[in-house]
Amino acid sequence: MSADSLARGVPGYPDAFRTKPLQSSADHLTGAMSRVPSELILKSGRRCTIVKVVPNEASPLRLSPVESGEVRLFGLPEDAEVAVSLASARKVFEEKVEGFPIRDFCAPVGEDRIMVSPFRGCQHWEEGEQCLFCNLFGPDRERNRIIPSIHEARSEHFSNARSWWKARGPRYLDALEQALTAVFCMGDLHPHTHLCIMVGNTTDPELQWEIALETARTVDRCKRLSLVDSYLNIMPPQSETFLQEARSVGFRSLQFNLEVFGPDQFAHFCPGKSRIMPYQKFLEVLERAADVFGCGNARSNVVFGLQDEEAAFAGAESLAELGVATDYTVFVPKAGTPLSSLPSPAPDAIAGFTSRLVSLYHANGFRPIYCSLSSRSSIVNDVFGDLQPKGEA
Ligand code: SF4
Repeated sequence: MSADSLARGVPGYPDAFRTKPLQSSADHLTGAMSRVPSELILKSGRRCTIVKVVPNEASPLRLSPVESGEVRLFGLPEDAEVAVSLASARKVFEEKVEGFPIRDFCAPVGEDRIMVSPFRGCQHWEEGEQCLFCNLFGPDRERNRIIPSIHEARSEHFSNARSWWKARGPRYLDALEQALTAVFCMGDLHPHTHLCIMVGNTTDPELQWEIALETARTVDRCKRLSLVDSYLNIMPPQSETFLQEARSVGFRSLQFNLEVFGPDQFAHFCPGKSRIMPYQKFLEVLERAADVFGCGNARSNVVFGLQDEEAAFAGAESLAELGVATDYTVFVPKAGTPLSSLPSPAPDAIAGFTSRLVSLYHANGFRPIYCSLSSRSSIVNDVFGDLQPKGEA
């Protein structure tokens, strides 16, 4: 998106639609902060998909100023019949619980997904062992947040994660219950309700599973978890008991993200994760998760672009043999990370990998994760129906 065509904004725009700040050079002079849409919904025929907006001066695409929610996208091929609309902001996420906006407890993602992360941060960042492509967590010095921060376990509880969660967890879970009750009462997530509970890593691998299950029970008190399209995104457990408990509490799927295929590659790109659980053990737990949750209901995300298409597809095939579905995100270099100069994969490679992955899904009876409107979690959604084998419903 061209930043200069987006920087002006329009009255009413920030309230009605989901936006994010854009600090343009003019803003630096005036101190003003313009906003741009955070996402666009693209419609072609009966199909809709949602895409993130990344302002880029060099992009050939330009978005017209917004008027009454109507936007136009310029720079597409002439024969492209694509209607564009903005993702709407839902007011319930701005309401406050314990003085904090509900989006702090359960963030809307895309049109119909709720993301719950019971604490901020990742232990690997605290220990300098973060994944090489990750820019999610730098030093977290925020205080008085309702969301517990893993940084507090180190700075205020002598790295005793249990003591930290005992001090911070109950208040958070109580507030989360109030927040989720409000969100589910509104009932305006369309077309589905997807829920992802994402639990990061602490110094105590058992504790993070206990936190995940406590969080799931909190959700269940607001809306039956088994009735929701729910995923638990977490490191694999050391004890299989947790797989059974996750099933019992109502999760439909588990997601343990390998990020990259191959033991050496895993150790290189994800030093913290591979120290906690080596590659081979990771695969074994994924396979057991597929046994417990059913074929295709154990999933693993990889970052496409860390290795070439052949290696990525061979890895996806080997996971499919275990009953595990592969998802992917496209690698984007992040400033300040060791991979900041590695380019994103070429569009042809993304299209080729996606097409082969969809064939693999069909061959194994897998379904894509979430839907096309629940953010870019699965590009597979956009082509899954188009690439159906003949005769498949
Ligand atoms: S596990 Fe890796 S990718 Fe995930 S938050 Fe930690 S460092 Fe980042």
